[in-house]
Amino acid sequence: MKPPQSVNNARQKPQVTRINGHLRGMGSTNDKRRILIVGSGVFGLSTAHAYLHSPNARNIEITIIDARPFPSHESSSNDSSRIVRSDYKDPLYARLGADALKIWRGAPGTGNLGLALTKAEREGKESERVYWQCGLTLVYNDDEKERKVRKGKDEEYVKKSMDNARHFEGPDAVRVLHNFEEIKKVQGTGGGSGDWGYVNLKSGFVNAERAMVVLREEVARRESRSIEDFVSKKKVRGVKTKDGKVYEADLVVFATGAWTPSLLDVGGNAMATGQVIAYLDITEEEQKKYENMPVILNLTDGTFVIPPRDRILKVAAHTNGYRNTVETRYGKRSVPVTHLSNPKLVFPKAAEALLHKAINENFPALVDRPFSGTRICWYTDTPTGDFLVDYHPKFQNLFVATGGSGHAFKFLPVLGDEIVKIIEAGPKGSRRNTPQTTGVKSETATSDEGYKEAWKWRKTSTAWTGDGSRGGQEEGDGELFPNVPQEAKVEVIKAKL
Ligand SMILES: Cc1cc2nc3c(=O)[nH]c(=O)nc-3n(C[C@H](O)[C@H](O)[C@H](O)COP(=O)(O)OP(=O)(O)OC[C@H]3O[C@@H](n4cnc5c(N)ncnc54)[C@H](O)[C@@H]3O)c2cc1C
Repeated sequence: MKPPQSVNNARQKPQVTRINGHLRGMGSTNDKRRILIVGSGVFGLSTAHAYLHSPNARNIEITIIDARPFPSHESSSNDSSRIVRSDYKDPLYARLGADALKIWRGAPGTGNLGLALTKAEREGKESERVYWQCGLTLVYNDDEKERKVRKGKDEEYVKKSMDNARHFEGPDAVRVLHNFEEIKKVQGTGGGSGDWGYVNLKSGFVNAERAMVVLREEVARRESRSIEDFVSKKKVRGVKTKDGKVYEADLVVFATGAWTPSLLDVGGNAMATGQVIAYLDITEEEQKKYENMPVILNLTDGTFVIPPRDRILKVAAHTNGYRNTVETRYGKRSVPVTHLSNPKLVFPKAAEALLHKAINENFPALVDRPFSGTRICWYTDTPTGDFLVDYHPKFQNLFVATGGSGHAFKFLPVLGDEIVKIIEAGPKGSRRNTPQTTGVKSETATSDEGYKEAWKWRKTSTAWTGDGSRGGQEEGDGELFPNVPQEAKVEVIKAKL
């Protein structure tokens, strides 16, 4: 499992990928409902996959367009690994995580996707393996200073997640870790992180790139293009790409990840934040020593480490992140910038120090081992950490599926089903729309209506409380280009669109 190309700062050549053909069992007559999905990350691809397997599939024609070749080295859905867990404070996500895990494990009855995802495992091909159930150790730092700053948010998240993990995965899956020594013992790396936590033996991680390739193979038709504008301003009838080609559709689904807030007016519903990752080369012997450790996530400083594969160890941080604020057509917005879109991007020194600290704590034998690569990866954050899956209130026929908030990957096998249910319910006020819920969100809502309510477009501004899972500073990690005027950064953005 290699780190993505961007790690080596290699420039990604622009490329157009076109896959022709019709969806399984479909003709191309125009009486079908045409759904155009912009963006082939987790949200876009899982939506396409869900439609392919829905009872309506015969009457629907789906096209996916993306500005970048697949799998994109700039999208947040492509990396060597992503954590999969049912360990959530909010039962809404804990349940969805548990459902997704059944498919990642390829449990009987999990259909084509479950079979496709576990094919390599059944055939014994390690290089194509997708899921590892190594366990997840979730911890927090129990010192007085942190308590004052964080007001117990990290402790609350860990303890509620533990209750939900027990509920959804069974009591035997979970073991409480009362102190650092117990954490260290369960990790088996000679080190550890945090003062209190638990390990859930039924969580793990996936090879994200491989999983996307598998899903992509399941989805028949896709085209790669950069979209430029809507065909019509009020009633959307499709999109126009930079090369002038018009894609007409009855419904356009924007699944454009962290680029969404600079492509569409999303109000205060989403913001792009840059998160830091580093990779270390290790020896074959070190690989053997560490490969069976549980993933460890410290909710106080946000750092996490995923077991190594192919002699590469990955360390990252789940914080409120960096920003790259520029003037866009919708005002000042943080927009994604990567090593590929701007080679001048410098990995922040503070991030380097934070990630080295995590390595030093968790792997005393690797103290100060230099990183072989670093990367800034973009979250699409929302005020509450909930996804944003709803019709756009100002445009007819426009739907938005985004707001992954740094935790959507694990839902790849099930997210599309929920998105399709919300699309098919129709916009608010339409005949297809199901009755509105009471507005009770998250903590108690675990029904389908709960997802629709939690992921709805919010017209009034909501406080940026997050979901309580982010470590580090409340105000975020600052600007990536603190000394560069906004106008200078705009050039990069214009070139991308
Ligand atoms: C560092 C990091 C670690 C993470 N760790 C985890 C984890 O451990 N577990 C977990 O569950 N989740 C994790 N996540 C979150 C998860 O990866 C994301 O929530 C998910 O991948 C978001 O998918 P997406 O479809 O919204 O965005 P993306 O995957 O970014 O897809 C958006 C697509 O839209 C395309 N696009 C953008 N603009 C245009 C345009 N103008 N025209 C055409 N196409 C366009 C892009 O090229 C891209 O392919 C992590 C994310 C990051 C960044």
